[in-house]
Amino acid sequence: MPFITLIDRRRQKQQIRVDFGEQIIEILNREHIPIDSVIVKRDGEIISENQSIKIGSNYTIELIEGYDIESIRNIYKSMLSQGYDGEVYHKRYLSISKDGRLELKLSKFGKEDLINWVENTFIQTISDEKLLEDGDSFVFALSGGIDSTSMLILFNRLKHRLPKIKIYGATYEDFKIGEKPPVIIKNLVEQMGIHHEIIPEIEISNIFNTKKPIRVILNELMKTPDAHFVMYIDHHVTRRALEHYASKKNIDKICLGLHITDLLAGILNTYMTGYVATPPPIRVVGPFTYIFPLSYITKKELKLYLEFNNIKLSPFSDINPWELHPLDRNFYYYLADQIQFFWPGIHVWMYEGLSRLIKKINIRQYVFCRNCGSPILPQVSTLNGNEMCDVCQLLDKHGYLQ
Ligand SMILES: [Zn+2]
Repeated sequence: MPFITLIDRRRQKQQIRVDFGEQIIEILNREHIPIDSVIVKRDGEIISENQSIKIGSNYTIELIEGYDIESIRNIYKSMLSQGYDGEVYHKRYLSISKDGRLELKLSKFGKEDLINWVENTFIQTISDEKLLEDGDSFVFALSGGIDSTSMLILFNRLKHRLPKIKIYGATYEDFKIGEKPPVIIKNLVEQMGIHHEIIPEIEISNIFNTKKPIRVILNELMKTPDAHFVMYIDHHVTRRALEHYASKKNIDKICLGLHITDLLAGILNTYMTGYVATPPPIRVVGPFTYIFPLSYITKKELKLYLEFNNIKLSPFSDINPWELHPLDRNFYYYLADQIQFFWPGIHVWMYEGLSRLIKKINIRQYVFCRNCGSPILPQVSTLNGNEMCDVCQLLDKHGYLQ
């Protein structure tokens, strides 16, 4: 069996087993060695890590970065600890202690453990972060997907452990023309006996002063060079619909089912674009307070929670064409999940760090879009008090505004 030699900065050597023909980049990957931290040599000559292992040669991997790679590799190796029969989920959490040590906590969950963990995390987020208090009313954005459905079930099952609250379920009527509201939503709200309303699309088209129904506009925009903005328009319009409904009910709190990956992808977007949004789990946007009770739970954990409670969601409509189109957004989601593998628990540090950063730059003044009335956090290049939000500017550019 051939091997290659890993040499660290103290010139200590370690042998790694490899196969003939194996590409070096794959070896580095499985051994948790970043390619930019090392130089690879064959018989003393530098080679690219895209080359493969040949018979009869000697290979070395020399660490050029000055960090303790062994301790870090050991953390990743311990993530590979064997699962037991009946283990359904391996929860990893990597924290940095006050004295700078990396501490990995592994929890091996059976079905009941997973259910308890999700429920306790949900309750803890609401109480520790003071998302809800006795007597609160809030608008609950119910789309019928995994996130909002599992959150509604959590609210219902755990009501004895939560403050006394009143839920106003609301679904924006953006389903396909002629299609009825998804059956799952109807069944859920009936079972749980919560107040629920559909927000008619015509009301929202009126708020945006559009010449056509917004869903028609979104499909038309998909055929233009601005197609990659359509998903952002869809999100903004849905947010506006919820705010409009909340205002009608005289409510200022809106509950959204964003989970860790949604929120991390958003924070990556903030760093890439400089477009600032305040951190979860509470986001104050003008007169509205958005709360995210799923801020410390992943989509996978929510999906498992539904599965282990035998709740099946039947897909009620095809995915909208714009969900997949802006590939940069897809990439942020992919990265957000990968980052969680390399640093499970990084969201906790990212939320806190962003929160401190926001306090430093002290953004508190909101302005209102003069077309749709949306409260917006002014960003570097936009808005001087009499301007429109990005979405309305785009609708205007394509001649959709009256
Ligand atoms: Zn606007």
